Amino acid sequence: MKWLKDFFRTFLLVELVQGMVLTGRYLFARKITVQFPEEKTPQSNRFRGLHALRRYPNGEERCIACKLCEAVCPALAITIESEQREDGTRRTTRYDIDLSKCIFCGFCEESCPVDSIVETRILEYHAEKRSELLYTKQMLLAIGDKHESQIAADRAQDARYR
Ligand code: SF4
Ligand code: SF4
Repeated sequence: MKWLKDFFRTFLLVELVQGMVLTGRYLFARKITVQFPEEKTPQSNRFRGLHALRRYPNGEERCIACKLCEAVCPALAITIESEQREDGTRRTTRYDIDLSKCIFCGFCEESCPVDSIVETRILEYHAEKRSELLYTKQMLLAIGDKHESQIAADRAQDARYR
């Protein structure tokens, strides 16, 4: 009898009617489309956008070149070179992130013991060449410097950082 049931379902356009009912239900519902970029949807303080390297308030780089972020990165997107300074501390001489490889998983941020590498709320960036997606230490520090107040506020909101 299944063939008979299928025949009537096809003949009476049951699935089409069900589809139209679903469409009709959304026709009068509140619209969720926003006019980007004039309008923006809310963002979580844990949003994982463009990376940044942070400094302490005295201007010293937070990063201690432990390379945990490089080790944990599943996409092998981070490249770090480091050397010891005269005062005995270790700092990076090179810190690159290849954003063409990055999958924005946030592992680098999670692994950092000094809250140095972070992912910001920035999503509006672009590149016209692949090489422009290679973010160097200076570029990452500049992003951190520019957005430090937002980065700090986002982390203050988050219980993980208290
Ligand atoms: S967000 Fe994930 S993939 Fe991207 S650099 Fe960090 S650890 Fe690597
Ligand atoms: S950013 Fe953090 S995890 Fe990565 S090398 Fe620097 S201190 Fe270590």
